[in-house]
Amino acid sequence: MALRNLPSVEKVLATQPVQALLQCYRHDWIASVVRGCIDEARSDIRNGHDAPSISEVAARVEERTHSLGEVHPRQVINATGVIIHTNLGRAPLSQEAMNAMMRVSLGYSSLELDLKEGRRGSRQAHLQPILRQLTGAEAALVVNNNASAVLLGLSAIANGKEVIVSRGEAVEIGGGFRIPDVLAQSGARLVEVGTTNRTYVSDYEAAINENTAAFLKVHASNFRVMGFTHSPQAGELVELGQKHGVPVLHDIGSGCLLDTRMYGLAYEPSPQDSIKAGAGLVFFSSDKLLGGPQGGVVVGTRELVDRLARHPLARAMRIDKMSLAALTATLLHYLKDEAPEKIPIWRMISASKDEIKERASRWQMTFGMGPEVVPASSTIGGGSLPGETLDSWAVAIPCAGLPNGAQGLARRLREQEPPVIARIDNEQVLLDPRTVLPEEEDMLITSVREVLS
Ligand SMILES: *Cc1c(COP(=O)(O)O)cnc(C)c1O
Repeated sequence: MALRNLPSVEKVLATQPVQALLQCYRHDWIASVVRGCIDEARSDIRNGHDAPSISEVAARVEERTHSLGEVHPRQVINATGVIIHTNLGRAPLSQEAMNAMMRVSLGYSSLELDLKEGRRGSRQAHLQPILRQLTGAEAALVVNNNASAVLLGLSAIANGKEVIVSRGEAVEIGGGFRIPDVLAQSGARLVEVGTTNRTYVSDYEAAINENTAAFLKVHASNFRVMGFTHSPQAGELVELGQKHGVPVLHDIGSGCLLDTRMYGLAYEPSPQDSIKAGAGLVFFSSDKLLGGPQGGVVVGTRELVDRLARHPLARAMRIDKMSLAALTATLLHYLKDEAPEKIPIWRMISASKDEIKERASRWQMTFGMGPEVVPASSTIGGGSLPGETLDSWAVAIPCAGLPNGAQGLARRLREQEPPVIARIDNEQVLLDPRTVLPEEEDMLITSVREVLS
């Protein structure tokens, strides 16, 4: 066995590259990385590998330390064409949202101070008039994400009572967020009505009793049921609910404030439509089609929103100052009618095919022989508008002769600084300019050229 040839911790610590690391990092931290790398080498040897030299171990320590010492999550370039990519942090922020976040973070802010009166204020106060204006609702509340908004809403309105949900809407949104589980967690009892594909107003009506606290309507944001289907509109449920004093709670998912049909996409429910239909509470994310930071927004009647605001969970879920600043700045874009130009995801959605083709051609010319500009489809992603695509163009890099094919090339692109995330289609690596920010183009071109050379 070559085990006895393994260098000792002391010897590795004494090497020049590891000594250099000790100038920047604490000794106990580097020593534990060294021990980890030696342990790894030991199990490699047991699996039949040669003993690494001391400089190989030192190099491994260096690499490990640099990768652990980096700020995570790291910046990456999204060339997948998936606009709201959940794995890549959903919506990129506008410059204004970014600036707002910086200003409140680098110093103090008026987060909970009423500047006029010099008294304690509410962190929710500033967003109230903006959200009321944009959605038509009486009141609004903002929490950490939409999952917590829904949990808070059900806990405050329906704990110990019954909530009627269509069988077709007792769905899983993703990441362990299942409507039946959230209802159970809130202390409400789920009363499922109708069938997976068809549910009628009469099904809700038949299930109403003195314990009914609400109808919950959940938008099928990440799947599509086709064919023989029916589910009542929010407005129809509101009408039924009014007769029995039962509010409609509507989880619309994406928080889309613009009309998606103007961009050639299917209709996506908007908070303002849901409020107009009479929903008591509407829940939505602020980092999907709204295009802001992570957050969950509740808008609705003053009476119901107040019940949420007073619930103890509201404090546990309260939004932080950075998200609040970025969200306010993002919502102001809508108020100024500049959302399609200023908010990155809307710029991406509204980018014309010609504009994208031109960018793809410009990239392709720098890549040399092989890569071609091809028609492609971008998607919205992030559990919004499932199955909807936007016609696009991409640079396709053929991978037939390359080591490990398309997977190998995609991996080498991920190893670049910053990493480039591409899409694989048909043994080709596709780079879709739609989701690449203009200021990232030069870095992307350099990285791709490096990988192809
Ligand atoms: C995305 C989504 C959620 C969860 O929202 P987060 O902001 O990710 O917590 C809940 N409901 C629906 C319908 C969704 O689409």
